Amino acid sequence: MTMRKAIIAGNWKLYKTISEAQALVKQLREELVDISDREIIIAPVFTALAPLAAEVAGSNIQLAAQNCHPAVSGAYTGEVSALLLKDVGCTSIIVGHSERRQLFGETDAFINAKIKSVLAAGLQAIFCVGETLEERESDEMFEVLTRQVREGLLGLDSMAMENVVIAYEPVWAIGTGKVATAEEAQDAHVFIRGLLAGLFDGKIDGQTRILYGGSVKPENIDGLMAQEDIDGALVGGASLKAEDFIRIVRFTQL
Ligand code: PEP
Repeated sequence: MTMRKAIIAGNWKLYKTISEAQALVKQLREELVDISDREIIIAPVFTALAPLAAEVAGSNIQLAAQNCHPAVSGAYTGEVSALLLKDVGCTSIIVGHSERRQLFGETDAFINAKIKSVLAAGLQAIFCVGETLEERESDEMFEVLTRQVREGLLGLDSMAMENVVIAYEPVWAIGTGKVATAEEAQDAHVFIRGLLAGLFDGKIDGQTRILYGGSVKPENIDGLMAQEDIDGALVGGASLKAEDFIRIVRFTQL
């Protein structure tokens, strides 16, 4: 039996105006009011954070940002720090999403600096890792996951890990409609948990929550959540539709 509380997190990517975001949150608030045995997180675009902070106040929905810069302040035009995201009402920040790694050239070292800044601000880091199709097909998957996990978490101790959630997101399954099978996801989660056991002397591997992400839908969430080491989901496309996200949050617990 695991004691890890499930998390369903929605990554809204670059979608929704403030009023569209408010309408979606209103519906989620109303229809998920009874949920207390799992955590609900939404990550809207930066400009919607302040208005949505007012919208989720006093509810069971938590706010996350999709990215941050590692510096607290300074001459970094166009960037936002973890501390400012805390100031606006975020409790978590997504770090190292594959779109940021691929489209914006984020390195493991830069992601590591971001995670440290998130933790220093007292927030939870949702740290994304995952292999590309090419890496999986050339049998580099475990090597890639090892590098991403080890370098992303460099310098953290087991206490800091209490505020880290890992999201395993195979790049080939993100936004493609190709979900990893529940067994493929479970195998990767077991591998990542093993890495954590090695890195942190077996102190936190059983406690760290590992989410699966990549084309999660109402139709596949129950099978994924039935796996022992899958502690929740990071949901992109399906988190933009109230009906789908609500069904995913209401996954069937076996
Ligand atoms: C994501 O953006 O993290 C994601 C998993 O996207 P999708 O669910 O659309 O594949």
